[in-house]
Amino acid sequence: MTKNLLTFAYYMEQLYNDFGSWIRGKFAFRVQKLSVDGGFSCPNRDGRISFGGCTYCDNRTFNPAYCDRSKSVTRQLEEGKRFFARKYPDMKYLAYFQAFTNTYAPLPQLMDMYEEALQVEDIVGIVIGTRPDCVSSALLDSLQELSKRTFVLVEYGIESANDETLRRINRGHDFECSRRAIAETHNRGILTGGHIILGLPGEDADESIRQAPLISSLPLDILKIHQMQIIRGTALARSYAEKPFHVYTVDEYITLIIAYLRRLRSDLVIERFVSQSPANLLIAPKWGLKNYEFTNLLVGRLRNSGARQGDLAYTICE
Ligand code: SF4
Repeated sequence: MTKNLLTFAYYMEQLYNDFGSWIRGKFAFRVQKLSVDGGFSCPNRDGRISFGGCTYCDNRTFNPAYCDRSKSVTRQLEEGKRFFARKYPDMKYLAYFQAFTNTYAPLPQLMDMYEEALQVEDIVGIVIGTRPDCVSSALLDSLQELSKRTFVLVEYGIESANDETLRRINRGHDFECSRRAIAETHNRGILTGGHIILGLPGEDADESIRQAPLISSLPLDILKIHQMQIIRGTALARSYAEKPFHVYTVDEYITLIIAYLRRLRSDLVIERFVSQSPANLLIAPKWGLKNYEFTNLLVGRLRNSGARQGDLAYTICE
């Protein structure tokens, strides 16, 4: 490791609880997520909840080129492994069921699909992205059993702790639903992740900062934070075209992330701060930064300010 990287890693470990360090503690080898498209739909798109979907959603932004739902789970994973093996021959992988709602099918079908992924050589665990209203007790019981023999992480789209925002973006569930699903997953000893978006319509920085302790109070192991992105073809893009609204500059977003991070408990693992949608789909904000470039900027600002994750955290009494 070069001196610069060592310095960077030192500061990162001290400044926030980063996912890279956490996952290195879980496995004796390098692992990375490999996206797989299980061919699922979403109840917020197929009419069970609504036909419109969340106003910001475009699942084209989820899948890398090797993911093709017409191919079997095994074939997608084998192709994904070949894609990365050239660069990292010793890498092992977590099958990441990412696109749409990856628990939205009958239980036997779901478990067959997860088991199929785990049978693929060098797949050492699964990550399941889903909605909090799409997990039954029976499914969580099965995942609890599975998690006794392999790495299982269930990742919930929370997006906001504000029910008015959740209505505005047409999520089709409220915050209480997220709270319940996360508690039921965590109580079974299953690794539990959450995803939130900062800068959703109607939410300014003060509102996001107000929500940080609420998110922090959830029994989550891992949190992913994303900036609001306006993607071509979505309902949000249409509203933005009709009446443009403010989206964060990089500088504003870093300021917000620091304030947010300071209010999160220090043992919560932070997997990411930003997302980069394909340039041809992204309308705004166009920061032109890779994830590591953003992290470098953030770490620099944290270092200069003396702030760190959890230094303003407090416990919410229910
Ligand atoms: S963001 Fe997720 S829950 Fe919302 S419409 Fe898209 S796939 Fe469905």
